[in-house]
Amino acid sequence: GDGDVREVAVAIIGGGQAGLAVGFYLRRAGLVPGEDFVILDAADQPGGAWPQMWDGLRLFSPSTYSSLPGWMMPPWDDASHGFPPRDHVVDYLTRYEQRYELAVERPRRVLSVERSTFDPHECEPLLVRTSHGDLTARVVVSATGTWTQPFWPAYPGAQSFAGRQLHASQYRRPEDFAGQRVVVVGGGNSAAQILAEVSTVTDAIWVTARPPRFLPDDVDGRVLFTTATRRVQAQHEGGDHPGVGGLGDIVMVPSVRDARKRGALEALPMFNRLDATGMVWADDTGRDSDVIIWCTGFRPALRHLSPLHLSTADGHPRTGGPAGTQATDEPRLHLVGYGDWTGAASATLIGAGRTARDTARVVLQQLDDGQRSEA
Ligand code: FAD
Repeated sequence: GDGDVREVAVAIIGGGQAGLAVGFYLRRAGLVPGEDFVILDAADQPGGAWPQMWDGLRLFSPSTYSSLPGWMMPPWDDASHGFPPRDHVVDYLTRYEQRYELAVERPRRVLSVERSTFDPHECEPLLVRTSHGDLTARVVVSATGTWTQPFWPAYPGAQSFAGRQLHASQYRRPEDFAGQRVVVVGGGNSAAQILAEVSTVTDAIWVTARPPRFLPDDVDGRVLFTTATRRVQAQHEGGDHPGVGGLGDIVMVPSVRDARKRGALEALPMFNRLDATGMVWADDTGRDSDVIIWCTGFRPALRHLSPLHLSTADGHPRTGGPAGTQATDEPRLHLVGYGDWTGAASATLIGAGRTARDTARVVLQQLDDGQRSEA
């Protein structure tokens, strides 16, 4: 390409756990961080989305089962039976990128990934436009997570509700809601942990689309990981694996167990609509409320990939290849860390490492093939 645009072999977009895990494997294979590959991160501090999560958040799996490749997360042992808090994860990820000298460039936002105009074939590098100058890369790994794309379901009357509405990603601490009539919407771990906190300072109502599913008390995130893995394998083999559910099942971390003891874990079915004062069900019964906290999940942050016009299936880009993370329409692009569609439990600390290993293997093979054809 023209002289002034920096060329790298691999550009990893996103310096959270998923991006770091791919960087670990590329560095271990001999690629030089900051030269052969770069990790570009829009955040101005390490840790991916973790620093943005609410103060009281607890990992749903013990530290030993929340580690990235190469270095176990230091153990965390306090009254929480080993469920580490948010800051323990941020500290671990911060030290991880220093330990492996991954030279994450931040803050540096990738604005778009484009095919080179004059030769859209696969042998040309991709153009990566960023907030701090452009670069070209033979291979791009998108690891941008979901935190910046909170999902708000559409319910009739939501605009007319006079109270406050926020998404779980904006929730910080229960004190902000003392004395208010709060509704927590959603049946996952975020909803359960936020409900557990808010119900200590005010009466909170919990509504879920289907009855919430709790894991047995002595079971933690580990089992979610193994069942997610078995389920994805079963799907590959054409069957399905009912087993205990996916990551949606609620882990009984101490705060949630405490809420159950207080009788605060009773969920009502979803309301049909909202009006100015609160929720209204199909039978026209209503409950007035001041605040609605939507713990209704996220979508992958993929806007930077729109110039590639990737075809989608089930609401996300089609992926395949040996690791199941290669974009079907653009083999030079890999997608990691977004959830089961990019590898079983890939949106968890332990899962990110496993898919990063498989993805890095495909990337290294691509670079070899490229070298050979250039030679
Ligand atoms: P992120 O951590 O979101 O990192 C993505 C990075 O990409 C960010 O730094 C962002 O700034 C950057 N980025 C985004 N767009 C761009 C761009 N265009 N250019 C450059 N950089 C960009 N997992 C567990 O294993 N255990 C748990 O207990 C657990 N609890 C969770 C609780 C909550 C509330 C949530 C939301 C998730 C939880 N997870 C848990 C899931 C998962 O571990 C986290 O979501 C994790 O943050 C995913 O890591 P990631 O690297 O894929 O994405």
